[in-house]
Amino acid sequence: MSVLPAGIPAEAIRAAGEKSKPLPPGTNVSMFRPRDIYGVVRPRTVTEVRAIVRAFAEDEGGPRLQAVSTGRNWGLGSREPARDEVVTLELGALDAVRDLDVEGGWAVIEPGVTQLRLAELLTGTGRMLNVTASSGHTSVLGNMIDRGVGLRRQRTLDLAGLEVVLPDGELIRVGWWPHGERPGAVNPQGLGPSPLALFTQSDLGIITAGVVRLLPRPEAQRVLRLGFGRDRLPEAIDELRRWTAQGLVSGVLKVYDTVSTRSYGGHGDEYVTHLCVDGTERSVEALTRVIEEEAARSGLFTRVLRSDEQPPAPDDLVARAVERLYAGDPSRNETMLRSAVGQEAEQVDAKGGGWLFFLPLIPFTGSAVAHSQDLLAQVHAETGIQPGSTINALDPDVIDLVVSFRFPRTESDAARAHRALDRTYELFAEAGFHPYRLDSEHHHWVDRLDADPAARAFVRRLKQTLDPRQVIAPGRYA
Ligand SMILES: Cc1cc2nc3c(=O)[nH]c(=O)nc-3n(C[C@H](O)[C@H](O)[C@H](O)COP(=O)(O)OP(=O)(O)OC[C@H]3O[C@@H](n4cnc5c(N)ncnc54)[C@H](O)[C@@H]3O)c2cc1C
Repeated sequence: MSVLPAGIPAEAIRAAGEKSKPLPPGTNVSMFRPRDIYGVVRPRTVTEVRAIVRAFAEDEGGPRLQAVSTGRNWGLGSREPARDEVVTLELGALDAVRDLDVEGGWAVIEPGVTQLRLAELLTGTGRMLNVTASSGHTSVLGNMIDRGVGLRRQRTLDLAGLEVVLPDGELIRVGWWPHGERPGAVNPQGLGPSPLALFTQSDLGIITAGVVRLLPRPEAQRVLRLGFGRDRLPEAIDELRRWTAQGLVSGVLKVYDTVSTRSYGGHGDEYVTHLCVDGTERSVEALTRVIEEEAARSGLFTRVLRSDEQPPAPDDLVARAVERLYAGDPSRNETMLRSAVGQEAEQVDAKGGGWLFFLPLIPFTGSAVAHSQDLLAQVHAETGIQPGSTINALDPDVIDLVVSFRFPRTESDAARAHRALDRTYELFAEAGFHPYRLDSEHHHWVDRLDADPAARAFVRRLKQTLDPRQVIAPGRYA
């Protein structure tokens, strides 16, 4: 007998296990332990989502719901939940772009809308999407809900409003939503305490739509690539920080170390900085000149290449993709993905090469970045696994350090890579460099890392109040 509660529309049921008999285990590119999943449900409308949630609310003691959008959270567990005994609620079939206002700078989209699709809709307009370096076939909302990072800024800054099905089936809209004929100006915080942030990295509701902000498209754009050696790392980072703080840089400045450059299919035997300059034709000209002069004066960089004069070589997949990404175009991401995991998006979890992420925030200072590199060298020395890292400057104070681990997909290699990841969590936590996203295997770190246990207890009280019957399974941040 199926474990799924009565009341779920039959057309939405993709797979159903039996009592005490989960579905055959799934695969994920990180080779984290697959959880016991008892069913997969794929609604096509918001009405169906509400019916499913209500059915689970009325059913006591069975598996709980876990939502994914496109489920491509590669490196962090893909579509695996944090706990056993769940039914996966796939929201990829809700894929409408409900509304798009180029002038106002927002779009109302559902979870199945991919970044490639929304970016294409904006081609030739005065707006662009803040896209990530992951596949074009990943969900815009899925990434935002997990607080991902795009080439322009953190994705949460693009989030204006969410439509949420609460654990009792009620539908609410939090944050900002266009008001009919006169949409008004975007105000994500609204009036009073803002519930918007409650539903990112959250198990308090199921997201069925969101309002996404669209960035003004610059009139002109150029990407500069600057190289420097490990011996100049602290000074070069401090110099790049100075340029960022003084407004010379647009979007997220990126620095790839050599391992990371190679992993994603780039060129270079040193650290490579990708720095976007945008604005009007004349401001881009002027800023380029200023940066070239500053770079020469500093004496820290081995070369400064301009995308207009020295375009990346055809086989420099990283530089070619990054240049387009700053312009809101993810169409070259699939080549980087193939280089990283050896497969197309559809096949990453089944057949891709092993891949793990560790994602800490660290201060934007030369000494902090140098320390992070020393810690990764220690992980390499202790475990034999060499992590790659990409420095993503989110603002003049904060770096999102993307640490990646590649490994052949065998049990013993996975065990070694997981040991390296565990060690990285430990070493970085000791150094005060805490992750801002967790993978499905390290959800318990939420208690180790939160500064104030009373604040965690408060969030758990909210969960108990909103979801006393645990309709939604506790997530990676519970
Ligand atoms: C080569 C490579 C490059 C990458 N580059 C980036 C990058 O630049 N930036 C970045 O941030 N990530 C990056 N990633 C990681 C990852 O692929 C992306 O973050 C991706 O967007 C996440 O998958 P998704 O969009 O399918 O979201 P999903 O997997 O669908 O969702 C992520 C999580 O959000 C929650 N969630 C999703 N939908 C809902 C919903 N409707 N209701 C409630 N909760 C929900 C769930 O907890 C879910 O596990 C990269 C990965 C690889 C392999």
